[in-house]
Amino acid sequence: MDTKDNENLGSKDGIRRLGIMGGTFDPIHYGHLVTAEVARHKYNLEKVIFVTAGNPPHKKDKYVTDAIHRHYMTVLATITNRYFQASSVEINRKGCTHTIDTIKYFRKLYGNKYKLYFITGADAVMEILAWKDAEELVKLCDFIAATRPGYHISAINDAIENIRDNYGKVHFVEVPSLAISSTDIRNRVRTGQPIKYLLPESVESYIRKFDLYTEK
Ligand code: NAP
Repeated sequence: MDTKDNENLGSKDGIRRLGIMGGTFDPIHYGHLVTAEVARHKYNLEKVIFVTAGNPPHKKDKYVTDAIHRHYMTVLATITNRYFQASSVEINRKGCTHTIDTIKYFRKLYGNKYKLYFITGADAVMEILAWKDAEELVKLCDFIAATRPGYHISAINDAIENIRDNYGKVHFVEVPSLAISSTDIRNRVRTGQPIKYLLPESVESYIRKFDLYTEK
């Protein structure tokens, strides 16, 4: 179901930039899609590749919907934007999945002519220094941290501030539609409330067809 991970699109300037959008996507919603589009436009990204998190180490003790369901919903949600792709690279990897391996995979696939931007939620970005091989990771890509309205920039810890100020590696983007959250959508389904207009219709149909989120 993937489009080719290394399909090329024309570049607009000398530097070629690629967005890697990482998330659990349980389920994907309009907040994620708007985030990717805002980042694509602001940072002149040739395309954004949505990478559904496989088996992230920090979610070991939490229930997460089957990776294949999360990935199929991501494929459905991204299909209408020619600049978006969905990749199954993490869900096909055995064991715990770490962002460093994903970034290395895309670095190898695209080569050094591309500058890589890892896009994800600000709360996750705050923790990057605790991620596997963090020092190497921050050398391999920039980070775009998406914030919800009302997010306190004071929450930025000193270490992230240091990476941001000295290396220009962490960029914050406020995305109003991130008021939508996956947790809220799951709760809404469980309690019989509507989810229409919070995510693409195709994703809602998928949730209903496979009866996701009704009992968790
Ligand atoms: P999370 O803890 O589930 O999410 C943190 C917050 O960010 C939530 O509010 C979430 O909102 C939001 N968010 C998550 N992905 C987003 C996106 N792409 N765009 C905008 N908002 C987003 O974080 P996560 O999804 O597990 O992890 C995010 C990424 O970081 C994944 O790719 C994961 O693999 C990576 N990560 C790597 C390591 C590691 O390498 N050791 C450790 C932790 C995370 P919603 O709930 O609405 O999505």
